[in-house]
Amino acid sequence: MATHEIAIHDQVRSLCISGGTHGNELNGVYLVKNWLRNGSIEIQRNSFQTHAILANPRATKRCVRFINVDLNRQMKSENLLSSVEKEEENCPYEIQRACELYSRFQNEAGRKAIDFWIDLHNTTANTGPFFIMSGSAGPFLLHLAAEMQKEFPELRIMLLKEGNFEGQHFEGDQHENSKEDLLDASKFPTQGVQGLGVEGITLEMGPLAHGTLNTAIYNLAKKIVTGVLDRVEKFNNGLEFEEKEIEVFRSLGNIHFPTDAEGELSAMVSANVERSDWKPLNPGDPLFLSFSGETIPFTGDDVVWPVFINEAAYFPNNIAMTITAKEKITVPSLKLKTN
Ligand SMILES: [Zn+2]
Repeated sequence: MATHEIAIHDQVRSLCISGGTHGNELNGVYLVKNWLRNGSIEIQRNSFQTHAILANPRATKRCVRFINVDLNRQMKSENLLSSVEKEEENCPYEIQRACELYSRFQNEAGRKAIDFWIDLHNTTANTGPFFIMSGSAGPFLLHLAAEMQKEFPELRIMLLKEGNFEGQHFEGDQHENSKEDLLDASKFPTQGVQGLGVEGITLEMGPLAHGTLNTAIYNLAKKIVTGVLDRVEKFNNGLEFEEKEIEVFRSLGNIHFPTDAEGELSAMVSANVERSDWKPLNPGDPLFLSFSGETIPFTGDDVVWPVFINEAAYFPNNIAMTITAKEKITVPSLKLKTN
C-alpha cells in the first residue's frame, strides 16, 4: 500500500569497504588487497571519498577467521570506550584492533567519520549473494539493496535481529542444545565491523570454502560493490528513489544442532535441507538426521526460510542454521537532503 511519505537522507561523503574481517574469507580479502594495490581507482567516485581496508590483518596473514576472538563481534561500547589499559599481552588482538579501527575512523568530535560502511564476507553455505543489515536499517540502505536486485535478481536482503548473533536462539520449539552452549555463545556480542560507519551493510557471498577463491564469486562481488558505489554517486547527484515494496528475510534466530547428554553432536542437517538456503522449511519437515538414523522434524509453528545452513564457522557454537521469515516491506520514497 502506498504511503506517499518522502524520506530524506544526507549526502554520503565518506565510504569504507573492508575485507578480511574474517581472515580466511578470501573473497573480500583479495578484493580489498587488489583495490589497495591498484590505487583504489575502481572504487573512487567524485562525490564521496572511498577507503578500503583489511580489517583483521593478522588473521588475514595467517588465513584464519580470527587470532583470539571474532573481530566481527567486538564493536561494542565496553570494548571501545573502556578506559582500561589494553595491554598487548593481556588484551585479545581483535579487541585491540577494534579500538584501533574505532579511533582511526572517528572524527575530532568523537563521531563516526565514515557515513557508509560495506564489510565483505563469504560463507560456506549455499546462499548466493546477500546483503545483511540491521533490522532497523533505514530507507537508504534498503533502496540501495533493492536497486542492486534489479541488476542481480538472485541478491537477497537479510535483516538481523538486534543483539547477540550466536546467542539468538530460535524461540520456537526446536531447542536441543544445552543452556551452557547458549551461555557460552552469549559471550560474543553481535556488533560488527560495518557498525564503524554511520550506516553499514555486510555483503555475504556463498558458497565458498574458507581459504579459497572462486572467479565467478569474486567477479560478482566486485560488480555488486562497484554497483552500490555507482548508486551512491547517483543519489549524491540528486537521483530520487521511488517508494517500492521489497522482499526481505528477517532473522528469527538460530537453530542449534541436537546434542547428547555430554554435549556431543548427535545429528546432522537432513539431506533435504542441506544446501537449500532460502528455501521454505515447513513444520514437520525433516530437519536433522541423527547418527543412529532417526529423522528429527522441524518443530516450529510456521514456515521459515533457513540460511547459513551448515556454515562451517558456526559449528564451534553448535549453530546448524539461521532461520528467517520472508516478508514484504514498503520502503518510502527517498531524496537527497538539500540545505
Ligand atoms: Zn565472515
